[in-house]
Amino acid sequence: MKPVYNFSAGPSTLPADVLRQVQAELINYSESGMSVMELSHRSNLFEAIINEAELLIRELLSIPDNYKVLFLQGGASQQFAMVPLNLLIGSKQADYVLTGSWSKKAYNEAKKYGEVRIVGEDTINQIPKLTIDSFNPEADYVHITTNNTIEGTTFYQIPDTGDVPLVADMSSNILSTPIDVSKFGLIYAGAQKNIGPAGMTLVIIRDDLIGQAPQSVPTMLDYQTHATADSLYNTPPTFSIYVAKLVFEWLKGLGGLTEMEALNKHKAELLYNKLDQSLLFKSPIDKQDRSLMNVPFVSKAGDEALEAAFLEGAKERGFENLKGHRSVGGMRASIYNAMPYEGVLALVNYITEFEQNQII
Ligand code: PLP
Repeated sequence: MKPVYNFSAGPSTLPADVLRQVQAELINYSESGMSVMELSHRSNLFEAIINEAELLIRELLSIPDNYKVLFLQGGASQQFAMVPLNLLIGSKQADYVLTGSWSKKAYNEAKKYGEVRIVGEDTINQIPKLTIDSFNPEADYVHITTNNTIEGTTFYQIPDTGDVPLVADMSSNILSTPIDVSKFGLIYAGAQKNIGPAGMTLVIIRDDLIGQAPQSVPTMLDYQTHATADSLYNTPPTFSIYVAKLVFEWLKGLGGLTEMEALNKHKAELLYNKLDQSLLFKSPIDKQDRSLMNVPFVSKAGDEALEAAFLEGAKERGFENLKGHRSVGGMRASIYNAMPYEGVLALVNYITEFEQNQII
């Protein structure tokens, strides 16, 4: 089989060492004679997995004791509803910073439940400069998307929202750099980029935000249900949690998130430097807002035929999923934690080769 580098935005590449371990343990987990997928979620073996996963993510992100870690289902998209159902309950006002397609989806969902205001309109493709005065002090919460997967922008400064809880969709940059969890009331992320296989959704929520949902909120959509049951109210996505635990161990083994951030910066710099010098391609994003995780790029001349030729050659060379999101076109290289430096280097070398062939 020819080697493949998978630049998918999600589900995305997993660390090769983790996949090898999954393979080795797949049909006989810990001498149980059963696959980890077959274990009861109430068994000692699975309880050890979920407890260890929680301890590891607490350590990696230095999560303070007054936060609960929940392993849920439904994807980040379900959080678009769970957040307002649980938190839009005081003034019934919330502020949403719209920086991309996913934040817009979160906003559209929240609008169903209260008075939701857009902060920093026209900020698709760039991160707005926000101060505490940008926000409604009466709001129940402020929502941001810390990394915009489709557009390729990132918040490098977390806005100060004062006493108003900050809620963040971190689906596409969680665990890529250290963060100060105490700046947030609630963090959520679908697993399928930097955490593990699709199926599990991570929620980190401050204690005081749990248990406020009105009676009418479905049991499964109430954070309290899952907090009380330590994420075992019903059958959790056991396999996804198991692989996530292995990914957390892999991250710890690398040296944690400070080391991961250094590796991510190294990879992203290589690609952005190439694009900034390229005669054919460019990054459409201002330097200060560029994502370390998702790197969209387009033909400088807007030449779609050239982009198609580039993508065709990429596929022949084993570079998978480089096509930009259908809403924006062009190319997008998602270079999450598990993408090795060699993968980005191979892509950069291909860009150089493609340019030389076009120019001759
Ligand atoms: N939020 C962001 C930033 C995303 O990148 C995605 C998926 O790519 C989602 C939300 C939706 O996630 P899910 O498919 O887990 O619902």
